[in-house]
Amino acid sequence: MNGGITKDDFARMIGGAAASIRAQHALLSELDCAAGDGDHGGAMLRTVERLEKAFAPGGPEDLKTCLQEAGWSVLGADGGASSSLLGIFFGGMADAPACGAPAGASDLAAIFEAGLAAVRRQTKAQPGDKTMMDALVPAIAALRAAADAGKSVTEALHDAAGAAHSGAEATRNLTARYGRAKFLGEQTRGHLDPGAASTGLMFEGFYRGLGESKGESGNA
Ligand code: ADP
Ligand code: MG
Repeated sequence: MNGGITKDDFARMIGGAAASIRAQHALLSELDCAAGDGDHGGAMLRTVERLEKAFAPGGPEDLKTCLQEAGWSVLGADGGASSSLLGIFFGGMADAPACGAPAGASDLAAIFEAGLAAVRRQTKAQPGDKTMMDALVPAIAALRAAADAGKSVTEALHDAAGAAHSGAEATRNLTARYGRAKFLGEQTRGHLDPGAASTGLMFEGFYRGLGESKGESGNA
């Protein structure tokens, strides 16, 4: 896909993310049992439900307003760390000037970069600290690299999904330094970080949601 990115394209990405999370929410809670309080699957179900609602037909037609509403809604989903950070992520995307009329992969990367910048104002966690940042940061870097290489939006999302999954997988051998898991320290070794795992699923869903609608989906 090389044309503009519409609100409906974003809605398809969100729909794909919701499907991925719904298919794997039990696993996410299982991972959170090892690293935290076991609620991450439930938290992510509430997050994707609110994202879908913000992008549902009949809502605002412009992407910026949808992202703002999605951000506020996810922030209010519950008191958990992931809802706060993801609410800030989606709400922060609305700050990107490219939201006005996103033209292609480079604008999509700029929108995601604005979301990441907002998250970075909220947490000092870096890749290597065993959090969602281990998946989020490489995913968005891959999106930017793909855009710079002239790839299509679907191809860029494919690369981002691959990078997010690799980043999530790499958390297995790390020790948690942020969030509830920090208190378990070395005990978290050997387990994937739940937030990194859900971020991998979310990006895979973004890719599949958009790719399938364009008939371009393959394996992320
Ligand atoms: P809670 O820990 O409040 O129960 P969740 O279980 O929904 O929230 O989400 C836990 C995930 O949130 C962690 O696996 C981690 O990826 C992410 N997380 C928690 N705290 C931080 C933080 N300070 N910075 C970045 N990510 C964090
Ligand atoms: Mg939890």
